[in-house]
Amino acid sequence: MRTTPTRHETYDVVVVGAGLSGLQAAQIVQGAGFKVCVVEAIDRVGGKTLTAKSCEKGFNDLGASWINDTNQSEMFKLYQRYGIDTEVQRDRGHTLIQSAEGSLVKVPYGELPGDPNAFLDLLQVFRDECSRLDLDGPTSSARAREIDQLTFRDFCIEKIQSESAVTIADVLSVSLLGVESYEVSALFMLLYFKSDAGIDNIISDQKNGGQKPNDRSEDGRRTGSRRDKGRQWSKMPRASRHQQAWEQFSQAFGQYVDVPQPVNILEMEWTKEAYFLGAPCPITTPGTLSIVGKEIAAPFGHVHFVGTETSRVWRGYMEGAIQSGQRGGAEVVKAFSTNPTSRL
Ligand SMILES: Cc1cc2nc3c(=O)[nH]c(=O)nc-3n(C[C@H](O)[C@H](O)[C@H](O)COP(=O)(O)OP(=O)(O)OC[C@H]3O[C@@H](n4cnc5c(N)ncnc54)[C@H](O)[C@@H]3O)c2cc1C
Repeated sequence: MRTTPTRHETYDVVVVGAGLSGLQAAQIVQGAGFKVCVVEAIDRVGGKTLTAKSCEKGFNDLGASWINDTNQSEMFKLYQRYGIDTEVQRDRGHTLIQSAEGSLVKVPYGELPGDPNAFLDLLQVFRDECSRLDLDGPTSSARAREIDQLTFRDFCIEKIQSESAVTIADVLSVSLLGVESYEVSALFMLLYFKSDAGIDNIISDQKNGGQKPNDRSEDGRRTGSRRDKGRQWSKMPRASRHQQAWEQFSQAFGQYVDVPQPVNILEMEWTKEAYFLGAPCPITTPGTLSIVGKEIAAPFGHVHFVGTETSRVWRGYMEGAIQSGQRGGAEVVKAFSTNPTSRL
């Protein structure tokens, strides 16, 4: 229930932001007997989770929607606790990938376009590099700091001398993070793989996976669009954008199935939302982690930090948000128990 605090009310703790991490932290602190006020900049709770009524038939998620029931245990507990309806993800068929120039490539589920050996070589590189990374001190080694200076694209080019390096790097960064591979730090990408249960799980829609191909068709085909294309669409008038997106969708799937006209079109431009500035999660550009990587979750005085980007595991996902909220909430409760007069 929403309440408006009066001017004279006092609280033990103020939580800034009613996304999953803030709400989870607030619940823990309140559960320990403290008086909590949650302040939220926009007119709804949930942050990057956003469910909208689509048509008479039901609802659509315009933000996060996918969890797994194996290693995303805190989200799975919430799902069980609230008895939420779910759909089991299809994980068969083909993936359709459109290049920047518009050509479509169809690859069996689990593979990427380009030279298959290059993909396997890169997967091995990711596994090896991730095994050396320390989740508790991601920039503690000189090697990690060196990798942080590279973009993910340059890292892939450096590791495998194959023409497919750029394609593979782009497909991974665009499909996982919605950014081009020249925008994101290679170290951030490796950390993302490692904190999310490893590269093999993260690119998977299966049991332990982290992917959400909600545009996969009945027979398992899937399409996606590049961030550069998204930026172009974002500048267009709404009707032209819908038209182009629809044409792309029909062109991709129309070769295989009869594509019906949409009954409704919902859109959410996360990049235009002042308190989000993009989706699905914050990324770091080359060099940033080396400067702030260690401090991102460290308390500053009486201020404690939560948010999926501060999580040790499932960074960038709802699971990471919930676990960071649990960590931050526990930190605050502990701070009060060791210093009952703890205040800002
Ligand atoms: C399109 C999309 C698809 C996604 N798909 C998945 C998926 O399938 N599975 C998955 O696990 N994850 C997915 N994610 C990621 C997931 O939604 C996020 O990781 C998670 O919800 C982040 O929670 P958070 O609490 O860390 O941050 P946020 O959700 O960003 O919450 C932060 C809150 O703080 C508020 N705020 C910010 N600044 C201020 C301020 N100054 N004062 C007051 N309030 C402020 C914001 O308004 C917001 O409500 C997706 C995200 C998007 C956008």
